[in-house]
Amino acid sequence: PPTVTVRGVHFQYADRSPALTGVSFTARARAQTALVGPSGAGKTTLFGLLQRFYEPEQGEIRLDDVDIATLPRGEVRRRLAYVEQDATTLSGTVRQNLLYSAPEATDAEIEEVLHATRLTEFVAGLPQGLDTSVGSRGVTLSGGERQRLAIARALLRRPDVLLLDEATGQLDSRNEQALRATIASAAEQCTVLLIAHRLSTITEADQIVVLEQGQVRATGSHQSLVDSD
Ligand code: ADP
Ligand code: ADP
Repeated sequence: PPTVTVRGVHFQYADRSPALTGVSFTARARAQTALVGPSGAGKTTLFGLLQRFYEPEQGEIRLDDVDIATLPRGEVRRRLAYVEQDATTLSGTVRQNLLYSAPEATDAEIEEVLHATRLTEFVAGLPQGLDTSVGSRGVTLSGGERQRLAIARALLRRPDVLLLDEATGQLDSRNEQALRATIASAAEQCTVLLIAHRLSTITEADQIVVLEQGQVRATGSHQSLVDSD
């Protein structure tokens, strides 16, 4: 997977004060880089730039040595997979949800991704896996399980970079652990960039980038940031 380099990025929505001013940092391959900061800091805007929904006014975003502005948008969105905060699952089974995202996926690839996202038990022993649908039978996957299913769908397409906007909802400790393990598995194959809302994610990240009012206030490990306070 590539190193993601954000260098001197400026961005402003029309008629607004700048959303990002001179943002620079590097996200290493096979590592977790956590973006933290208050609402309005520019985290979502940065994710939009990473997917080329908008273009920086100044600065650049590179995958290794390649400026994403030189790549077709389709290729950028294939290489960088985005999992939104409240990703919706489709009605149907876990396996149907996975195959919808990656119709060509083999059974072995599905097994691998189910293992990585700690969802094996929802398919084991059942031909298609548990039904995820909300209906007369009620919700059969919890919020944490649905978020892992969304990550599984993204990973099945074998992206270079996983962009994860972590959900804010409460998770019980089992789901919290499963999410940690899922993100760690993703970081074995991808460059992981996440908008972190959970303390456990922040403490486990390899690097933290603190954004405030569109600027990088600090970067470093959790420990180095705690020590410098
Ligand atoms: P965060 O994700 O950290 O909460 P955002 O990237 O959503 O921050 O917002 C950064 C700044 O850009 C804020 O001042 C916000 O009001 C503004 N902003 C975000 N999206 C839009 C938009 N679509 N149009 C205009 N301003 C926006
Ligand atoms: P496309 O033109 O590629 O079909 P969409 O507008 O349908 O793009 O969005 C594709 C995905 O990207 C959706 O999951 C959507 O929630 C997400 N997305 C849209 N706008 C943004 C943004 N500004 N930042 C991050 N993700 C976004």
